[in-house]
Amino acid sequence: MTERTLAIIKPDAVERHLAGTIIQRIEGEGFQIRAMRRLHLSKTQAEGFYAVHRERPFFASLTEFMSSGPVIVLVLEAPDAIKKWRTLMGATDPAKADAGTMRKEFAQSIERNATHGSDAPDTAAYEMGYFFAGVELV
Ligand code: ATP
Ligand code: MG
Repeated sequence: MTERTLAIIKPDAVERHLAGTIIQRIEGEGFQIRAMRRLHLSKTQAEGFYAVHRERPFFASLTEFMSSGPVIVLVLEAPDAIKKWRTLMGATDPAKADAGTMRKEFAQSIERNATHGSDAPDTAAYEMGYFFAGVELV
């Protein structure tokens, strides 16, 4: 089933000029890029995006990091896109990520881990709507 997911190239990867390489991998794996934008999140916007994690001990540090520099947000489309993108990203902690995954290759730590991907259909819908208007996603 064709599905859409939200991906983010995080500030650590944008800062190190890895966006082009990551986008090339995304296209090489067969995803269609349905929408894309570069933006610099405010702390409040990062907190809104990661609201599900607000009770976690790393919330303050995570939202500080996510608002520390520009990110690139993308809507990716493919059969089974949510799982497919998370598999390509690899485990949250790069030390546990499989060889060839984005996080194994590009992450610097469990926090500065290069990319984000939605984890389920309901979070994908919320996250795509957080960054893109419906009219941009037809
Ligand atoms: P993402 O939601 O960014 O795709 P994920 O689903 O693999 O990552 P989550 O558990 O949703 O992981 O955590 C969200 C983000 O919070 C992680 O990608 C990472 O940047 C940061 N994070 C997660 N766990 C930790 C931790 N123990 N210490 C510091 N930062 C963490
Ligand atoms: Mg997550």
